[in-house]
Amino acid sequence: MRFDNVVILTGAGISAESGIQTFRDPGGIWDNYKIDDICTPSAWGRNKQLVQQFHNTARQQMKDAKPNTAHTMLTSLQEHHNNVTIITQNIDDLHEKAGSTNVIHVHGNIFEAQCEDCTTVFKHRDDIADDTKCRLCGSNNIRPHVVWFEEQPHENDAVDMALVDCDLLICIGTSGCVYPAAGFATYVKNRGGYIIDINKQLSFTAQQFDQIYLGDATKTVPLCINQIF
Ligand code: NAD
Ligand code: ZN
Repeated sequence: MRFDNVVILTGAGISAESGIQTFRDPGGIWDNYKIDDICTPSAWGRNKQLVQQFHNTARQQMKDAKPNTAHTMLTSLQEHHNNVTIITQNIDDLHEKAGSTNVIHVHGNIFEAQCEDCTTVFKHRDDIADDTKCRLCGSNNIRPHVVWFEEQPHENDAVDMALVDCDLLICIGTSGCVYPAAGFATYVKNRGGYIIDINKQLSFTAQQFDQIYLGDATKTVPLCINQIF
């Protein structure tokens, strides 16, 4: 089979072997925190300090993380195939660290901060503290530039453009629980595209996929890419 417009959708599972916790696996983030306490606008309204502390810890962990073979395999695919878009739900920067281009961050980026007063977004790799100031207006009302539950995902137009002509979608390390990303596979399949899932265990939406690779991403991503291309 020959594919012209390839989209790769990645989730927390691709970064697991780089030492970044996923959400829903045993030992994952939701074992220690409740979504309502740290990843919603109302949590931010109730307890900014706790929300900030959670994201500061995540940022530190992600700052030191290194891309793994699954990330670098996608970079090499992009070097050999001229139309590969990566849509990631991850807020880490491991695709960029691996040298990938054309990466769409639908849930934001932990290394960016946003001013709540003037909405300016700026790069920020350190903890967000009480004295962190907006580069434009000087306000210290600053939040991580990530998408919380009940908020709208980022870059919808870029996602639509990538998916409308997609003839191959490969999902990697995503549990298929968080919409709208969880609906991308059905969308592509309904338009005649081929869909593949790469996951450590069968996801909730496994039955819809044309092909499934089960196992750790560092093993299964190279296997899949070498077989398909
Ligand atoms: P999730 O935790 O719901 O699911 C992770 C999936 O990855 C599961 O299906 C699991 O079986 C699989 N997995 C675990 N280890 C794997 C491995 N070594 N190889 C292959 N697959 C593996 O994560 P999700 O589906 O991405 O959930 C979406 C939400 O998670 C998003 O909102 C995203 O922002 C957030 N998130 C991001 C990060 C990050 O930036 N690295 C980390 C945690 C959560
Ligand atoms: Zn500002």
